[in-house]
Amino acid sequence: MHSLSLKKLRDGIHAGNFSVMEATDAYLERIANFNEELNAFITVTRDSAQAQAVEIDNRIRKGELDGAMAGLPYALKDLFCSKDVLTTCGSNMLRNFVSPYDAHVAERLKAAGGVLLGKNNMDEFAMGSSNETSAFGNVRNPWDTDCVPGGSSGGGAATVAARLAPVALGSDTGGSIRQPASFCNITGIKPTYGRISRYGMIAFASSLDQCGPMAPSAEDCAITLNVIAGLDARDSTSVDRPVPDYTATLNDSIDGLKIGLPKEFFAEGLNPQVGAVIERAIKEFEARGAIIKEVTLPNSHLAVPVYYVVAPAECSSNLSRFDGVRFGHRCENPQDLKDLYERSRWEGFGAEVKRRIMIGTYALSAGYYDAYYLKAQKIRRLIQQDFAEAFKDVDVIMGPSAPTTAFKLGAKKDDPIAMYLEDLYTIPVSLAGLPGMTFPIGFAADGLPVGMQLVGNYFEEARMLNIAHQYQLSTDWHTQVPAKFA
Ligand code: GLN
Repeated sequence: MHSLSLKKLRDGIHAGNFSVMEATDAYLERIANFNEELNAFITVTRDSAQAQAVEIDNRIRKGELDGAMAGLPYALKDLFCSKDVLTTCGSNMLRNFVSPYDAHVAERLKAAGGVLLGKNNMDEFAMGSSNETSAFGNVRNPWDTDCVPGGSSGGGAATVAARLAPVALGSDTGGSIRQPASFCNITGIKPTYGRISRYGMIAFASSLDQCGPMAPSAEDCAITLNVIAGLDARDSTSVDRPVPDYTATLNDSIDGLKIGLPKEFFAEGLNPQVGAVIERAIKEFEARGAIIKEVTLPNSHLAVPVYYVVAPAECSSNLSRFDGVRFGHRCENPQDLKDLYERSRWEGFGAEVKRRIMIGTYALSAGYYDAYYLKAQKIRRLIQQDFAEAFKDVDVIMGPSAPTTAFKLGAKKDDPIAMYLEDLYTIPVSLAGLPGMTFPIGFAADGLPVGMQLVGNYFEEARMLNIAHQYQLSTDWHTQVPAKFA
């Protein structure tokens, strides 16, 4: 069962070959067998999943439910509020938070007849590239359990890579879907900023956060995106623009596709082993009729520094609500109000979150606002313009998702700069608000997976999924699963 694609699972359920309950139990059993080792789930919602499965089986039998996601199990990153389910954001601050409502995407998946298997582990408040900042312990990469799965959606990436769920929703602020997808040999898409409502998704950096599906294939991502994309009045940044059927154009021809390769993405910083795999895949596209052009993103070297002003600034504001009064952990026996705030926040937040709150508060303070925050916003605009220039000449941009393959647990934990550079190629795309995706293209000399990053122009998700799908029709990288989890 666990080797079936979303489409085949759905067809099997609707043909009566197996029930929703059987599909749900098959995945719950895999989670029971493997989660202890991988630590990919913070919460497994076994009882509610089984109850949902009974109900959905009934509704399908009565002909009340026949959508593309009906009966399909899924997992959610633990920053999506899930009604009556623990929602921790990977933090001690929210260790006991049971959400009273569903995030927009959780609501949509539920209404479509999906079955929630559980909540995925993640870097605390989505800050990290290795899943090691989680207050619930690190996640292990199924391809090498001594390695990180990437982050911050590392729990979801490991879940899909080990086939503990057929699809997981992650979030991406600066690379958190694309980099772990690359490390774990799965497909993931971060749509255009505003394509999916952020309502009920615990905020990190609001001008960058966007959620998206992580699954084995582009087709599975398309099926899921169909359910979750679209306008939601509760998120004023969600865009009022028709949602195409992302599965309808998967088989379009990609003949004559103009692919831009940013020369800055193939320069120093890229591990040559990763570069070799990327170059081979580009040649495969060329052999299939694509036209390859070099493009330039001259300000991309400023993206990481800009991000580490903008994202901390926004997080320092977003996370001020966790004060032990309005939200979050409250310390024992506070002496006075100041002590309550200080100790609750001191105890609730981990080191990386504190570092960012301090940087952000500093960058926003009077006297430094112009020098740092405003300056960063100006450079952000230049980065966006670089992409606009590049898209005058090409249809899409391709390059690495991350400079390395999965690294060993602990290898970068005490070196924030090395960790921040993991997102060298994903952050520029986030700052521009453009859609970016990762799909598997093979294995580096160290035996670990490499993902190609594909960047489209605004709202070009259908085209991107089409391109990745065409590649996946004639390659089998995306179907590969580590032997132990096959
Ligand atoms: N790794 C980046 C960070 O630590 C991106 C995280 C994300 O996309 N949520 O901020």
